Amino acid sequence: MYPLIILDELINRCPKLINEIGREQLTQFILNRSHCLLSNSNSVVCSLLEKFSLNTNYDLIKEISSMSMKQNKKNHRTQVEIIDCGPSGLLLGALLFRPSIDSIIIEEQSRSDVESNIRAGVLEQSIIDLLDEIDINERVLKEGIIQRCINIQFNGERISVPITEYTEGKVSTFYSQNLVVQDLIESRLKTNQRLWFDVEYARIERHDKTDDGQRPLIKFRRRNSSKEEFIECDFIAGCDGGASKCCRHSIPKDEIRTIRKSYPYSWLSILVDSPPDGYEVVYSFDKTDGFALQSLRSPTKSRYHLQVSVDDKLEDWPDERIWSQLNKRLTLKDKSWKLNEGAIIHGALFPVRTSMITPMQYKRLFLVGDAAHIVPPITAKGLNVAVKDARILAEAIIDVYDNNKFDKLNNYTDKCLIHISEAEEFATYMTSLLHKLDLSNENNEINEFEEILQRARQQQSQQSSALRRLIAQMFVSLINLENILHC
Ligand SMILES: Cc1cc2nc3c(=O)[nH]c(=O)nc-3n(C[C@H](O)[C@H](O)[C@H](O)COP(=O)(O)OP(=O)(O)OC[C@H]3O[C@@H](n4cnc5c(N)ncnc54)[C@H](O)[C@@H]3O)c2cc1C
Repeated sequence: MYPLIILDELINRCPKLINEIGREQLTQFILNRSHCLLSNSNSVVCSLLEKFSLNTNYDLIKEISSMSMKQNKKNHRTQVEIIDCGPSGLLLGALLFRPSIDSIIIEEQSRSDVESNIRAGVLEQSIIDLLDEIDINERVLKEGIIQRCINIQFNGERISVPITEYTEGKVSTFYSQNLVVQDLIESRLKTNQRLWFDVEYARIERHDKTDDGQRPLIKFRRRNSSKEEFIECDFIAGCDGGASKCCRHSIPKDEIRTIRKSYPYSWLSILVDSPPDGYEVVYSFDKTDGFALQSLRSPTKSRYHLQVSVDDKLEDWPDERIWSQLNKRLTLKDKSWKLNEGAIIHGALFPVRTSMITPMQYKRLFLVGDAAHIVPPITAKGLNVAVKDARILAEAIIDVYDNNKFDKLNNYTDKCLIHISEAEEFATYMTSLLHKLDLSNENNEINEFEEILQRARQQQSQQSSALRRLIAQMFVSLINLENILHC
């Protein structure tokens, strides 16, 4: 039947072909090649055009090619299709590999781009434990830098929060995101698991298993190739990050809800080619200029953030202005501390916001990490939360294959919400504690009241060691991931 569909299509869409070639010859040509039409109709159509010296009709080739692929959607088969190779997708693949669950990861960027994107860099203890569990912890244990303390300061007066003293041995570790990604990619490729970079136009064609046995289906093309490929799978993990061009957007709008909060300021974030003095992390509130943060990414790199106006552009912030503001906001009243300036290797400006998608699942598609939620960056939780989603999803999928039980999968969103809401709450608390308030409200009483509340919170953290203990514990996370998995 398939060659006849091609023939019909050709006749309907390109009646001139019949005039040029003749119906009989055209039919014979297509029938003779019916065996290879199924594997590569594009080349057959091209050879048809070539053989009969016809003008190349690109649209027609594209359409026929896609028609042929629809007849042959089983180009690739896997159990779990993971859309992207950020930390959450890679970790999910690694967790599934242990009980021999097959996955394919497709990624839009090149390997070198993915491996060089530093972004996050603070890992909670539970993430280190997870890397230990899957035996991908050698480098992080060697090169990661334990975060022993954070400093919080208000208008030049600094208090120290000794994390290791307050958290019964749990710590955070500085280890930049690109190293986590490199370690996971290396381990995946070493074990010959499929991971394809430079993939374009990934689209989810089918989200569910159908009554006639068809499975979820993803279509994509490799860069510089016009050939469409298809992956048939049992489950789709949507790990394609905050922009989530493929996964989140494939869900009908009325099936999910986005809960959002936007703050009336942005962050200017720079990556600097030198470490902060003493590897110190400093959170600073300055009542005139606003928030600043000094953090670490590696023994040789630091990251700084500044609260800036939502209307600001990167060009409004030349290097001299950035360093002058960092110096001003981070300095101590007694001038006993000095900023360690260095070369700025990257700068970005982004709005401070939070968002949560609910539910995080649609049929057999499960959103993971930034594709489902954005946590305000102040507490460095984004990567940690993304990886915890992956852990919860892995556990649920394993339960399906091992025990044919779907309860954990059905409860995926609820389980994730336990740790996501903890991270969101802590980030919201720290954001409101340390940013200069937006006082554009026309009602001055409201402005004054907000300022009184903020001052009260700042005093509490200066005076109460119980509150500092809580802040330290929130940094390494109060909620035990294992408890979520088994609840
Ligand atoms: C400047 C900055 C600093 C940060 N600092 C911290 C920090 O200190 N601590 C912390 O925990 N978090 C931090 N974060 C957040 C953290 O980087 C993210 O939360 C984390 O990367 C989320 O991981 P993910 O796997 O969900 O998504 P991502 O890491 O965003 O990965 C998504 C991947 O999907 C790919 N992709 C997108 N669309 C497609 C498609 N259609 N087809 C195929 N592939 C696709 C992308 O190329 C990308 O590789 C920071 C973020 C930024 C921007």
